Amino acid sequence: MSSSGATVILKPGRDKSVRNRHPWVFSGAIARVDGDAEPGGVVNVRDHRGGFLGYGSFSPRSQIRVRLLSWNEERYPDEAFWRQRLETCIARRASLWASGETTAVRLVYGESDGLPGLIFDRYGDWLVLQALTAGVDRRKQALAEAALDLTGARGVYERSDVDVRRHEGLPETVGLLVGAEPPERVTIAEHGVDWLVDLRLGHKTGFYLDQRANRQRLGAYAEGTRVLNLFAYTGGFGVVAACEGAREVVHVDSSADALAMAAENVALNDLNGEAHRFVVGDAFRVLREMRDAEEAFDLVIVDPPKFAHSQRDVPAATRGYKDINMLAMALTRPGGTVVTFSCSGRVSEDLFQKVLFGASVDVGREVRILERLHQAPDHPVLLTFPEGAYLKGVAARVDA
Ligand code: SAH
Repeated sequence: MSSSGATVILKPGRDKSVRNRHPWVFSGAIARVDGDAEPGGVVNVRDHRGGFLGYGSFSPRSQIRVRLLSWNEERYPDEAFWRQRLETCIARRASLWASGETTAVRLVYGESDGLPGLIFDRYGDWLVLQALTAGVDRRKQALAEAALDLTGARGVYERSDVDVRRHEGLPETVGLLVGAEPPERVTIAEHGVDWLVDLRLGHKTGFYLDQRANRQRLGAYAEGTRVLNLFAYTGGFGVVAACEGAREVVHVDSSADALAMAAENVALNDLNGEAHRFVVGDAFRVLREMRDAEEAFDLVIVDPPKFAHSQRDVPAATRGYKDINMLAMALTRPGGTVVTFSCSGRVSEDLFQKVLFGASVDVGREVRILERLHQAPDHPVLLTFPEGAYLKGVAARVDA
């Protein structure tokens, strides 16, 4: 990859965040671009006096115009640079991988791992790559080959079927990048529970790896319970609850395919299929029906998709979170537990707690947070990039 040789000059006073190692340069901070900056090519970033700030990759179509890769003038991001970063990321997960806790790990978490726009997940012998930016898109073949080499995996499959690529002017792309085609289903094991994962059609790269630690925590609340597993996907929390001694689980999801795989995951773990019910439908509607039918549960899991995609969505998202949590609390028996999440980065932990407060008051229940939950440690939060934190949740006791 050759340098485009172009230089991005920032406006006066707009260099502070770059100096503080934030990896993003917004278009509004840029005074001008000297030279021919190619999509995904490397540019020099300089302050208005011409002082060197860093090297980054250029995204001409995105509001996030440059993503910083290196703040060291001696450390130009060439092929070897990318490979070395990849190696470092893999090394950071070596102990998690070696622990035997899981055979599925996020190896690279974009900006938070110094590789903006790149996601690499490992599922057993298979790797899945997601290219979110022009810079990564341009290098994905070389990155896939390097990752295959560094991990000894058998193949790298691309799952760049994500909406955010639109901001980069990139089409959605899926398919094999290097090595062998992964099978239709890959089996992974996490904390002693087995899971079928569809790398081609599953959500995200196939599985919600970010919830790994929280699925494990569920053991503390599951024994002997009747469980309502809302937004169940392929079984997730409900299957873990059953493995931990829950007596009955009702799984709700709008995707019939996801629930079909949830049923397979129940069987895969030698659980009693009779104890699981699968309800395909909109969780909001199903919950209202259950409330009207006076159903009651000892443990309710609320793990909805992202409600807020931008700051503009936050008010509507908070109404959604309040609504779903009111219903969840109302369906929880006194003394029971609600485990509830928000994966909207725009909804802060504080705001989420306020929403839960509002829900508890309106539904007339006394709710105590027992523990706070976050994304798993292979999705770390870099202090210079707080945007990397998105998943927050609580396990809470719901009294009368
Ligand atoms: N808890 C799961 C992940 C949930 S992801 C796990 O640990 O694996 C969110 C899920 O919500 C997806 O499976 C999606 O199909 C489902 N979903 C989205 N909107 C929904 C709605 N309105 N009602 C029910 N399910 C919905």
